[in-house]
Amino acid sequence: MVQIELSKRQQRIIEIVKEQEPITSENIASILSVTRATLRPDLAILTMSGILDARPKVGYFYSGKTEINLFSQEIKNIKVSDIMSVPVIVTENTSVYDAIVSLFLEDVGTIFVVSNGYLMGVVSRKDLLKATLGGNDINKVPVAMIMTRSPNIITIIKDDNALNAAIKIIDHEVDSLPVVEKIIKDEKEQLKIVGKVSKSNITKLLVEICKGGS
Ligand code: ADP
Repeated sequence: MVQIELSKRQQRIIEIVKEQEPITSENIASILSVTRATLRPDLAILTMSGILDARPKVGYFYSGKTEINLFSQEIKNIKVSDIMSVPVIVTENTSVYDAIVSLFLEDVGTIFVVSNGYLMGVVSRKDLLKATLGGNDINKVPVAMIMTRSPNIITIIKDDNALNAAIKIIDHEVDSLPVVEKIIKDEKEQLKIVGKVSKSNITKLLVEICKGGS
């Protein structure tokens, strides 16, 4: 993982640029009593992370962005496939009762529903709770009756990044996204579930990044 802490010298460079922008690398080097070559990797990190802007023949500017951008840079470098976990999947004719049992046994909050192996729907804890309040025999009600259906399902692909997964979870107010692969079948796009990203996966990632990646 990319180290997100800045070195003392990198922090000093930021201070110098803040005070004296625009400033050339020669001038920064002379203030720090080092050679330009020594500074090159530090300046590369600071410009790549967006903290400093480099303008040819003018020098370095402070972009106004803080070190927090290194964090967002890091989170964008992490793929959904790096953080996804195993999804719990049932078929469309599974009863609400059996879906509730799976929810407890597998210790998850969201269950994905497939038909012929392709994504059809999503059932959450509250969907199941609601179904138990209706007075129907939950052994007889299939999950297909209560699920949120395709195409209204918010999905993500495994090559997308962790930040986009978190943004989708927040924007659509859901706990979990199915990670899907798009397959063209009989000229129709179908979705195969290859994983899931939940709020827990995102929280785990946050802890890992803050601990310096272990
Ligand atoms: P809960 O309902 O237990 O609070 P969610 O917030 O995840 O859990 O679900 C809210 C609603 O959104 C439910 O009706 C559920 O079926 C639906 N839902 C859950 N995940 C998704 C998803 N990835 N795409 C579309 N709808 C979803």
